[in-house]
This record gives sequence, C-alpha cells and structure tokens, in this order.
Amino acid sequence: MSTYEIVPIAPEKLDAMRAKGEDEFGNPWKPYPAGGWEPLRCCLNESVPGEAVALICYTPWTEPSPWMEAGPVFVHAERCAGYLTRDRYPENMGRGKCMFNTFDADGNRAYEHITFVSPGDAYEDTLAELLGRPEVAFVHVRSVEAGCLAFEAHPAR
Ligand SMILES: [Zn+2]
Repeated sequence: MSTYEIVPIAPEKLDAMRAKGEDEFGNPWKPYPAGGWEPLRCCLNESVPGEAVALICYTPWTEPSPWMEAGPVFVHAERCAGYLTRDRYPENMGRGKCMFNTFDADGNRAYEHITFVSPGDAYEDTLAELLGRPEVAFVHVRSVEAGCLAFEAHPAR
C-alpha cells in the first residue's frame, strides 16, 4: 500500500477556468492542437498529437503565501478523466530530473529536506520517505530542466 497521494490539478478548478474563458491570472483559455509531447497536469500523462490542449498559468496555492509560486502548465482543453491512480507515482510524469520541493505544515519551504532525483533513482521510495518525515507536510514535484510543476504529493490519509 502506498503511503502517499499524488495530486493533479483539481478538475473543478480547471472547469471554472474553462467556463470563465481564462486561467486564474487572466490569461485567455486558448485551445490548440497538441504537438504530442506536452506534459498534461490534469491527468499526468503526455498529450496525443492533435488533441486540444491549453497552456495556462497555475499555482497550487489556494491561500495567500509568500512561498506561492505560479507558472506555466499544459492541460487538456476539455475535461478529461483526470489522474485516477493517486496512490501510484505517475508512469509518464515527474520521471526526468526532478526537484522534490518540500513544505512544512505551515506551508513554509522545508529547505533541509529538498531532494533532487534523476532517472535511475527510486522516485517512489524517495517520495514516500520524504513524506514520512514529521517535518514534511507536502511535496511539489518540479521538473529541474523546465522548472514547471509536475504535481503535488501528500501523505496518504
Ligand atoms: Zn488531462
């Protein structure tokens, strides 16, 4: 049994952006045909060439925080099935050089626990071990090369 929960962008948040025609920062929701390489943060998979995707600015923070980071992410232009196997580390996302950006229960960055992983490392075990530390409340998995947020991870409830 897994000890963590993988958290993609909430489908309700994306629905609200689609309905409004813009992301939470006022960028227009502009669907276009995928090239087939885009990492999609709604379902944590790569796009299929030609399907409609959108590039938006997204922040996982829901309340004001000095640690807040917002950045570009790709999502499906229309609602998709989402990421259903939340107890499993994604097969096609967060597999390159990644930063496991650690935060404490107050939402402050837990600097001394930040961990970098590369292909060949045990991503699942490293994430589980980090989230097992009492000082770590949640983790943001980020691509080192692109800087983009891949997904959040929380201890399993
Ligand atoms: Zn999707």
